[in-house]
Amino acid sequence: MTEAELREQMVSLAHSLFMRGYSSCGAGNISCRLPDGGFLVTPTNSSFGALDAQRLSKLDEQGEWVAGDKPSKEAVMHRAFYQQRPQTGGVVHLHSPSLTELSCLPGLDAANCLPPITPYYVMRVGSLPLVPYFRQGDPGLAEEIGALAPRHNAMLLANHGPVVGGGQPAGSGVQRRGAGRYRAVIFHPAAPRHGDADPGTDPRVGHHV
Ligand SMILES: [Zn+2]
Repeated sequence: MTEAELREQMVSLAHSLFMRGYSSCGAGNISCRLPDGGFLVTPTNSSFGALDAQRLSKLDEQGEWVAGDKPSKEAVMHRAFYQQRPQTGGVVHLHSPSLTELSCLPGLDAANCLPPITPYYVMRVGSLPLVPYFRQGDPGLAEEIGALAPRHNAMLLANHGPVVGGGQPAGSGVQRRGAGRYRAVIFHPAAPRHGDADPGTDPRVGHHV
């Protein structure tokens, strides 16, 4: 995929997320890796609903801003993913309502914030570790993400929101969107409970892989 095509794909995905209520008022950021080892990321304070493909921030492999508008301070999180997961082509970070609410709850299991309640979650996420809280742009956050990235493609930032890596930005969006649904299932008081099947251990989950 050419850089021009990647730019258009980022704008299209961001607009889709915006229209579905996953991002508002400049919150969150998306990136994709470029063939030269650098990456594109959404500019600081930009709205997912009104991105300009030609003004996306372009950073080199060292994370230095080389073109486009000023990048988000959270670009360091994206670079940590690309450095530690060579297979990652795109990263999505959102302040989506459901998962941000989940990230603020006390007593979360730091090793896995969500139980394996559906086969899709087991297949696409596996486990969701909790990253300790850091202020925006704190290099400690990138260090924590970099330490988890070799083993996890999705993480929940405490009191902040999710960050997910995938093969392409569109793939990351699919995974994050799924995780958002799971939180709704867990906490909705009317959510149905069927039997005692556990997708984390039930061998029937393998039929969906
Ligand atoms: Zn954020």
